[in-house]
Amino acid sequence: MTDVTRPGISGVPPTELQAWLQARSEPAYRARQIHAAVWQSLATTAADAALLPASLRAELEADFRWDTLVDTELHRSDAGLTEKAVHRLTDGAVIESVLMHYPARGARRERHTVCISSQAGCAVGCPFCATGELGFTRDLTTAEILDQVRDAVRRLTAAGQRLTNVVFMGMGEPLLNLDRVLATVDALNDPARLGLGARHITVSTSGVVPGIRELTARGPQFTLAVSIHAARDPLRDVLVPLNRRWPVAEVVAAARDHASATGRRVSYEVTLIGGINDTDRDADELAALLRGDLAHVNLIPMNPVAHTPWAASAPAVVERFASRLRAAGVTTTVRRNRGIEIGAACGQLAAQRAGEPPPAAVARRRARLIAASAAALRGERSAGAAPAATGA
Ligand code: SAH
Ligand code: SF4
Repeated sequence: MTDVTRPGISGVPPTELQAWLQARSEPAYRARQIHAAVWQSLATTAADAALLPASLRAELEADFRWDTLVDTELHRSDAGLTEKAVHRLTDGAVIESVLMHYPARGARRERHTVCISSQAGCAVGCPFCATGELGFTRDLTTAEILDQVRDAVRRLTAAGQRLTNVVFMGMGEPLLNLDRVLATVDALNDPARLGLGARHITVSTSGVVPGIRELTARGPQFTLAVSIHAARDPLRDVLVPLNRRWPVAEVVAAARDHASATGRRVSYEVTLIGGINDTDRDADELAALLRGDLAHVNLIPMNPVAHTPWAASAPAVVERFASRLRAAGVTTTVRRNRGIEIGAACGQLAAQRAGEPPPAAVARRRARLIAASAAALRGERSAGAAPAATGA
């Protein structure tokens, strides 16, 4: 029981840590030493915080958990360039993070990016996404999000490497777990903790407009990625059900304001699905929506990880889509070598563990998606309710 109730040390806000120390008449500089134990020594128990007196270590151990990840299983692929981690949490919830290594190329320095989860499952329910198919379990705590980063840094440090980027493209909708995600980006950015530059921290969202606005108001130049997938509402309603609450024009307006406030280009992610959102019309609508914006489009052929009646767009179709965007002046990248890239397959292993759904349920789901996408392609807006604004 204590394990569940003790907060994770990495997620304790600096003001609370100060108050905790003050209540024990400890000097303020102990906070710095604790941050160093958490972020430099990457301690998994207070016993490893060598600079601290033994009595304080015992109290820290009694009051806080030094690692909220109970157990981690690694799966390496792409000749070691991709490390997928499946983490089990105290209550048995299973989440995933992915560490991606990009060797130096020409003038470009090597990069090491960790893709992290913000929720166990997701309530948004995008039909092509394995996490969406799983449904929502619960929000992660700040410490559970940060400990995925600490786990990756631990592995990198052992290999003499440094973390260069953090992306919220794992399981969950980060901006529906807003307060914890904002506390997380603060910790990642804080020089006394991880100290990673804000522009190296990317928050990906399916379009939670108030969340985008709060992230912008935060000040630092965090990078925003918007999972757009379609430029018109009837189709986006099906691909990103949250569109029924915050339609595409509102999402792009908020993203545009983020770009003007931060001077940072917004990334727009498009998962390309054969015959659904990959036509010339779709490319032209997206170009018209984004033309002249501080924006960059990433095209990702759909990874067939969820049960859908759909398949990835053919490579030639993806190229044609990219060319039309570029011809309209919209910077565009195609990501196809690593399906895993930007967490495209995140949730896949957790879904496998949850087991294969019954065939009848899969058949119903496929039939529903065929009907919904056919209606969307005829221009009809779906009547279903939007997913809850918060999973809590
Ligand atoms: N919930 C947030 C962040 C996690 S999903 C969001 O949706 O932005 C991270 C990215 O992976 C999103 O752009 C999402 O659309 C994409 N993605 C999910 N499933 C995918 C799949 N099967 N194939 C390709 N991309 C996928
Ligand atoms: Fe949730 Fe993102 Fe998956 Fe959509 S794509 S279900 S928002 S995790």
